[in-house]
Amino acid sequence: MGEILPLPRVDAAVEEPLALILDAMVDSVFVADASGRVLLANEAMRILAERDPVGHRVSEIVPSPELVEAFDRVASGGASEEIELKLRLARGRKRWLTAQLTSLPRDGRTVVVLHDITQLKRTEGIRRDFVANASHELRTPLTAIAGFAETLSDGALDDPATARRFVSNIRANATRLMNVVEDLLALSRAESPESVFVLEAVDVVRASRRVIDGLEPKIVEKRLTLKLERADGETLAGAPIEGLADVRALDQILLNLIDNAIKYTPEGGTICVCAARDEDAVRVDVKDTGPGILPKYQDRIFERFYRVDKGRSREQGGTGLGLSIVRNLVGRIGGQVTVESDVGVGSTFSLRLRLP
Ligand code: ADP
Repeated sequence: MGEILPLPRVDAAVEEPLALILDAMVDSVFVADASGRVLLANEAMRILAERDPVGHRVSEIVPSPELVEAFDRVASGGASEEIELKLRLARGRKRWLTAQLTSLPRDGRTVVVLHDITQLKRTEGIRRDFVANASHELRTPLTAIAGFAETLSDGALDDPATARRFVSNIRANATRLMNVVEDLLALSRAESPESVFVLEAVDVVRASRRVIDGLEPKIVEKRLTLKLERADGETLAGAPIEGLADVRALDQILLNLIDNAIKYTPEGGTICVCAARDEDAVRVDVKDTGPGILPKYQDRIFERFYRVDKGRSREQGGTGLGLSIVRNLVGRIGGQVTVESDVGVGSTFSLRLRLP
C-alpha cells in the first residue's frame, strides 16, 4: 500500500467540526491522490463501500469502470466532470448515482462526491411505464374507431347490416375510451396531493345501498343475486354502521369493488356485500363467486394497469385501473383494503374504515 499523504493542515479547532459535517452529509465523499488511492472518506462513503475506503484504490471501493476512467481524466489535469453511474450491488440490487469529480488545484488530489439518484430513477421509470401504458390503452380503441369509420366511408355504409355492425363497434370502442379517460382522471384525483378529502361519519350500509342501486341494470343483465347484509343481524333499516370516510371517495371505492364482483362473477352467480362493526373499525366485505385470484397475483392487482387476464378484463369493459384507484383512495381516507381469494371458489375484498 502506498504512502498516505496528510491532507493540508487544518486548524485543530475546525478539523473535528469539518469531519462531523462530512460525516453528517447524505452524499458520499472521498478524496484520492493522483494515483487513485483514497486519503479521506466520510461516513456515507464508508457505508457505500461497505468498508473503510482509506488506503484503497477508487476501483476497489466503487465497482464502476466509468468512475475510474473519469477519475483518471480529472486527476491527470482534466476539467471537473459530472457523470452518472449505475452500480450493480449484491443480490441483484441496483443503485444509480451521480459523481462529481473536481481536482484540487496544485496538489493533485481529487474530490469525488457521489449523490444517490436511485429513487429519482425509479420514479422516472414508473412515469415512463405509466405514459406508455396509458397511450396503449387509448390508442387501441382509437385505432379501431378509425378503422371502422374508414371502412364505412369506403362503401360499407351502403350495406345497412354491415353499417349497423360497424357503428355499434364504434360505439363500444368510444365507451371503452371514455372508461379509460374517466379512470385516468379518477386516479389522478386520488393521487393528487391537492385533492381534498373531508373525513366524516358515513353510514356504510346506506352508501352500499346507493352504489348497488346504480348497478342494478348490470346485475339484472347477468342474472346475478346480490345480497346486502349486516353482520349484526339487524335489518338494513337498523341503526347506521358509521365509519370515517369522505362520502365521494367511499362511493367510488364501493363502486369499483362491487362493479368488479359483478364483472368477474359468471352469469347466475351470487355476490354478497356485508357491513360489520368490529371493535376498532367498520368493515365492508364484497364477496363474489367469481374465478378467484391466485396468491401470486393478489398484491399485483392493485398496481396500475395490472390485469390477471387481459382478455377477460377488456371484454368486461375493464381498464386495469379500478383497484389502483381503490388503493389510493383508501390510503387517503386512512382505511385499509385487503383481498382473500380461492381459485375456483371466489374472492372477498374487505374494506376497513376507522371509527369516527
Ligand atoms: P379491471 O378494470 O381490469 O377490472 P382492476 O384494477 O379493477 O381492473 O382489477 C385488476 C385485475 O384484478 C382485474 O383485471 C382482474 O384480473 C383482477 N380482479 C379484480 N377484481 C376481481 C374479482 N372480484 N375477481 C377476480 N379477479 C378480479
